[in-house]
Amino acid sequence: MKINNDLSKIKEENEFFTLSEKVKKFKKNNPNCEIISLGIGDVSKPIIKPIIEAMHNAVDDLSSMETFKGYGASTGYDFLKQKILENDYKNIDFSLDEIYISNGTKIDVCSILELFDTNSTICIPTPIYPIYKNGVHCLNRNINYLPICEKDNFVPQVPKEKYDIVYLCSPNNPTGIAYSYENLKKWVDYAIENHAIILYDNAYSAFINTTNIPKSIYEIECANKVAIEFRSFSKNISFSGVRCSYYVIPNKICDNINNIWKKRTINRFNGADYIAQKGAEASYSKEAQIEIKENIADYLNNTKKLKKAFKKLGFTVYGGEDSPFLWVKIKEHINSWDLFNLYLKKLNIIIIPGIIFGIEGDSFFRISGLGSREDIEKAIERIEKYYN
Ligand SMILES: *Cc1c(COP(=O)(O)O)cnc(C)c1O
Repeated sequence: MKINNDLSKIKEENEFFTLSEKVKKFKKNNPNCEIISLGIGDVSKPIIKPIIEAMHNAVDDLSSMETFKGYGASTGYDFLKQKILENDYKNIDFSLDEIYISNGTKIDVCSILELFDTNSTICIPTPIYPIYKNGVHCLNRNINYLPICEKDNFVPQVPKEKYDIVYLCSPNNPTGIAYSYENLKKWVDYAIENHAIILYDNAYSAFINTTNIPKSIYEIECANKVAIEFRSFSKNISFSGVRCSYYVIPNKICDNINNIWKKRTINRFNGADYIAQKGAEASYSKEAQIEIKENIADYLNNTKKLKKAFKKLGFTVYGGEDSPFLWVKIKEHINSWDLFNLYLKKLNIIIIPGIIFGIEGDSFFRISGLGSREDIEKAIERIEKYYN
């Protein structure tokens, strides 16, 4: 028996774990310190009422024989797919069978690799959400990293090399940068030219409000021939604990991959939670949409406050316009773990060291507006006091 040796690579690389261990140790040694996390990658707002009510009703459905639900379709219920088509792809021509409902983008962006030959060349631009590389390791595949440069404003540039699969994440975690129509068109052209597939993680689409930023990669002409788009309900409707996501495999992608993937999914997955899908469905009502937009605006206001404060102190700050994340350049001549230690000790503030997202990130740190307003204001006060 031989185990998948690539799994050992993940252990070495799981720096989020190292981070939480460091925080735990600091808390233990300094029990009276009030620590504020600006590093939050999870939402903090509770789920809104209309969605909670829909989930309560869904629970009740399960209590009577007439409305009970057992196994649903592996690819999800049509009631949710219909809402997705009508709302998220209003001007794009997709059918129900091109939408796959699932229980989280984290699993989706990795398991999709089962669709492709094990020798496919995979390109991951870095700095990046570490889940892709770790997921790719889980499936025993090799990765080619493509550095994203500050001089390009942290927009990944199409490479000269030919790759079969490219991971793109926009609005990006960690840089907070959302890619423009022109940026994405270059990637779609690249994919067409090289017969590549773009795996497009669009988990933060609800945070997009700049007009020139497409809310879906399918707004780019011909993207439906080369792109698989992933979206999650975790961030927009606080479903990070409930679990519901979806992705699109267009019928126009050649080699009939939608049908192949359907076969795979029926045999590998028994569908997402009925209650979660009912909750997600309810998020599309007019009433719910108003509240959801207010919540997101609130997070973005937090992010803007942070951005303004850091810029005023002379920091170079990226992102935060169409994303809850800010990517801040370290002013001190130290690396990102040293800055983490400094902020924890001197300011009692948690930031995420940029190196967690790749070696290119070592002179940056990630912060977010996903925490509470009160915490963010308190953190800003501490930071201003420290630097002034
Ligand atoms: C939070 C996040 C997700 C969401 O993953 P789920 O499994 O749906 O909760 C996906 N991609 C990125 C980049 C994220 O930050």
